[in-house]
Amino acid sequence: MLPSIRTCLPAELEAVLAEMGEKKYRMAQIMRWVFAERAESWDEMTNISKVLRGKLAERFELLPLPVPEEHVAKDGTNKIAFRLSDNSVVEAVLIPTEDRLTLCVSSQVGCKFNCAFCRTATLGFFRSLTADEIIQQVMVAQKVAARDSRRITNLVFMGMGEPLDNYENVVRALKVLLAPEAFDYSRRKITLSSVGHVPGLRALAQEGLGINLAISLHAASDELRSQIMPANRIWALDELFETLKRFPLDQRQRITFEYIIIKGLNHSAHDANLLVKRLHGIPSKVNLIGFNAFAGCRFESPSESEMVEFQERLLAKGLSTSIRLARGDDELAACGQLGRKGDGTP
Ligand code: SF4
Repeated sequence: MLPSIRTCLPAELEAVLAEMGEKKYRMAQIMRWVFAERAESWDEMTNISKVLRGKLAERFELLPLPVPEEHVAKDGTNKIAFRLSDNSVVEAVLIPTEDRLTLCVSSQVGCKFNCAFCRTATLGFFRSLTADEIIQQVMVAQKVAARDSRRITNLVFMGMGEPLDNYENVVRALKVLLAPEAFDYSRRKITLSSVGHVPGLRALAQEGLGINLAISLHAASDELRSQIMPANRIWALDELFETLKRFPLDQRQRITFEYIIIKGLNHSAHDANLLVKRLHGIPSKVNLIGFNAFAGCRFESPSESEMVEFQERLLAKGLSTSIRLARGDDELAACGQLGRKGDGTP
């Protein structure tokens, strides 16, 4: 199978074109067709000669974008699902707010990390997405957004799967998303969220991409975290925080810690104190998210006052803390809720 042109970095395309004896400026022309015009066939590239289009078609694949199935929740959150060539289904979510339009991107079909509060985990793990499939989510969502004259302003790798468990493909997709000749997203507008995959975090630190990092924390003691997040049995909190302390951040960057509040489980005064201790010395902000109950899960959602009480405890200790509203609950598009309604298979 040929590599997709959509995963080709500008320098790589330039090298291929040089091999073909083509001028340098062709690279920008082709990139424009692929990313700005979202061309779905070589024939659309009318300012590229037929001969060159033929040569490119021998080196790269350029397939039509998949047709999305959309589910718009009452709050405007739009879950976009599409079927891949092997019949598995991938989902991305467009989350509109007044001043931004965020796309939540998936990196795997299902997930192997089995967090106890997560709907995606109930699906099991099917496979990692290719870099092309990750990029296709962005392109399809861009098309959907353009229909309402909107542009995607922010990207979060927070959908199905653990992005750092699909390292090569996610990092390639990130490089394409950041490349000025391709998507040209600002590194400040992209966030990768991880369960705390230590080898992946170490490798990502070396890439120097400068994107934002979010960690799904949800508990500040190994005992509790291992109960609700089996990944903690592989990468315990001391190891994770040693890695985070060395993660390169620029002066204004902070690591976001996501903390799902589960009724009666992780929001006592003791939990707050442990969290404050853990985050000491790390430029951080905490996002509190109320657990979204779903059928078959033993946990309960907290009340608003329980969330506010926990927030106030953290604020009193000087931790920057906000409460994130779950979005799109009625279409299962809130955090940890990606997965199909009903049959439990992707
Ligand atoms: S919360 Fe994230 S890492 Fe945990 S099972 Fe769900 S998708 Fe996987």
